[in-house]
Parts: sequence; C-alpha cells; structure tokens
Amino acid sequence: MSSKTLNNFLNENITDLKSKGLYNEIDPVQGPNGPKIQINGKELINLSSNNYLGLATDERLKKVAKEAVESHGVGAGAVRTINGTLDLHVELEKTIAAFKGTEAAISYQSGFNCNMAAISAVMDKNDAILSDELNHASIIDGCRLSRAKIIRFNHSDMDDLRQKAKEATESGQYNKIMVITDGVFSMDGDIAKLPEIVEIAEEFDLITYVDDAHGSGVTGKGAGTVKHFGLQDKVDFQMGTLSKAIGVIGGYVAGKQNLIDWLKVRSRPFLFSTAVSPADAIASTKAIEILMESTELHDRLWENGRYLKEGLKKLGFDIGNSETPITPCIIGEEKKAQAFSARLFEEGVYAKSIVFPTVPRGTGRVRNMPTAAHTKEMLDEAIAIYEKVGKEMGII
Ligand SMILES: *Cc1c(COP(=O)(O)O)cnc(C)c1O
Repeated sequence: MSSKTLNNFLNENITDLKSKGLYNEIDPVQGPNGPKIQINGKELINLSSNNYLGLATDERLKKVAKEAVESHGVGAGAVRTINGTLDLHVELEKTIAAFKGTEAAISYQSGFNCNMAAISAVMDKNDAILSDELNHASIIDGCRLSRAKIIRFNHSDMDDLRQKAKEATESGQYNKIMVITDGVFSMDGDIAKLPEIVEIAEEFDLITYVDDAHGSGVTGKGAGTVKHFGLQDKVDFQMGTLSKAIGVIGGYVAGKQNLIDWLKVRSRPFLFSTAVSPADAIASTKAIEILMESTELHDRLWENGRYLKEGLKKLGFDIGNSETPITPCIIGEEKKAQAFSARLFEEGVYAKSIVFPTVPRGTGRVRNMPTAAHTKEMLDEAIAIYEKVGKEMGII
C-alpha cells in the first residue's frame, strides 16, 4: 500500500470517528493510579481503574520490586524457553497454582496475550468453541486465532448453551468442543453461571475455560469465581490476569500438570516473547501471598462496593444487576452518558462512559470501579457529585 493510500485511510477514518463522537481521547494520569488521580493538573476521585485492591501502589509490593531490580536487574533477558525463566518466574507459578487450588500454572506477559496463547495451543480448525456473546475481546481474538468454529451463545443463557452444545456434538463435525466464558462480566458486574456451565460441559464432554480477569482477587474470598463455586477440579483452564486486582502486569493459566506442560511447549507467546521483568514477577507473587494470608483488602473492596451502590441507588440511579463491586450507572442514550461523564469530571470524579458497541445500544452508562483503597470520605464526595450532576441533567 502506498503512503498516500494509508494517509487517505487514516484521515477518512479518524475524521469519521470524530464526527460520530466515537474518537477516544486519552487522558494521561500524572502520577500513580490510586483512589485519587491527577489529570491535567486536576485532582479527581478515581472510579475507573481495575486496581481493585489498591495493590498497584502497595508499599509491600514496591519494596520487593525494588529489591528484585537490585538482585536480578530490570529485564528477564530472554524468552521463557531459552533462558528467560528466572527463579522468580518459577516461584510466581507455584504461588498461582497454590492460590487457585490446581496442580500447576503458567504465566504470560499479559492477560490478553495469555488468551491468544492458550486457546490456540489446544484448539484447531477441526474443533468448535462455544463462546458467551459478551466475552472479552481477547477471548474473541484468541478463538479466531485458533481457527476453530466459533459458536456464540446468548449471554449467560444456559438453555441456549445446552442447545448449541447438543447440536455441535450431534453434528459429529468436531474433534473437540470447548465452552469459554468470562468469570465476571466487566460491563455489568454479573457472574457467569459456572455450576450450570460445568454440568452442561460434563453432559457433552466439553473442555471448560474460564477467564477470571475481573473475578480474581474479588470473588471467592479473593481466589476467584471458580473457587467461589468450589469447581477447581471441574474447570480445565482457570485463566486470569496479574494486572487488575493483583495490581502488576501479566496473565496466567492454572490447571492440571499435563495441560501446563503442553502450554509450555506449544503456546507461542511463551516461546517467542520475552518473559515479564523480575520486579513484575516478584511483585505479583507478593500480591498473591498477601491475598492468601488475609481477606482484609477483599473485605474492604466489598464494603466499599456495597456503600457506593447503596448511595447511588438511594439517589434513584439505575445501577443494573451487578453481583460484584463493579457499579454501572445506566443512563441510556449514548450522548447523554458521555455528557454525564464529562460533567462528573468537571466536578471532580473520574468515571468513564461506556457506550455502544461495547454495551448494547441505548444502555450507555458510566461505570464505577470502587476499590479497597477508597475512603468513606472519598465515596461520600463522589456520591454528592453524582447527586448534583444527576439532578442538573434530569437523570434523577
Ligand atoms: C482485562 C481483561 C483481559 C486482559 O488482561 P490484561 O492483563 O490487561 O492484558 C482479559 N480478559 C478479560 C475478561 C479482561 O477483562
């Protein structure tokens, strides 16, 4: 493609997005991504991070990370399969397996690339994948990369899943069939119906894969959605991220030893992309150790979630049906949701609007992510700002 054609492509498409109000301007955060953040010199109550437990700025994690820079340097130096597997990576994987209650675990550089890696390492063009229609983009891309037939089922609709599992099985077309789902759906905060999913999987001999990026550290007393339901022995892939509640960076799969052995020889990002840094590995290990020792942060997160939800609900906001601390505030019309978020910003709250196509048309919302690090005073202040802006815009 000539550079002129590329320029035309970019200019046309960027102009188009801007005219539709769909071009996302990025606001750099000046300093740490804590319960309060600074953007453009303005201090804001932060209700948009995935730093659920406040661990991204935890002093205990910072301490071990600094020590690891001194003892191991700043980079892993190679891909895991050459000689980039440091003692700190092995320690991390042992800790993840203990945390998840599985025989073994493998870690990756991110949750996104973990889904790229793990799905395509076991599924191929002779297989089928039953995928919840609201699954995360990285699941969708991981499924596509595998070249398996993707069969979408209606969100958390177990009759639909059963019907499609039955059809796929009876067609005799596929070698293997997998069912894949988010553990916690991040737009509404609802939890996957794992007991039913596992039951259907047993009936039709499906491989089970749960992406618990938003569940780990949050549900199951911190250990995640699979443990919440006590299904560690029934779910083949417990996938998760080290970059949300764990507060650092990376992704992982926890499961049986033979699955992890296979992923170590066949998942491409593990073989062809350098391992996370020593500081990242040890900080993640420390975070998981903290979660295994005490539910203090987890309990505070849920308490703050409950407090924020009650406050907004009492004011008359539609907060949906979240089963987790994730607190959507559903406004409806896309433009109004964006304007609401912009007014919250002016008043001192950072809560991003989320609109079609990320959520269904007409369900534009502002999504709030309370964390363990918020104080009651910060939440009270945020609720007061919600009240002011909500009344001003005729939403409540
Ligand atoms: C955020 C997220 C990921 C990606 O995790 P990263 O570690 O940020 O790459 C994967 N799956 C789900 C469901 C997520 O929410």
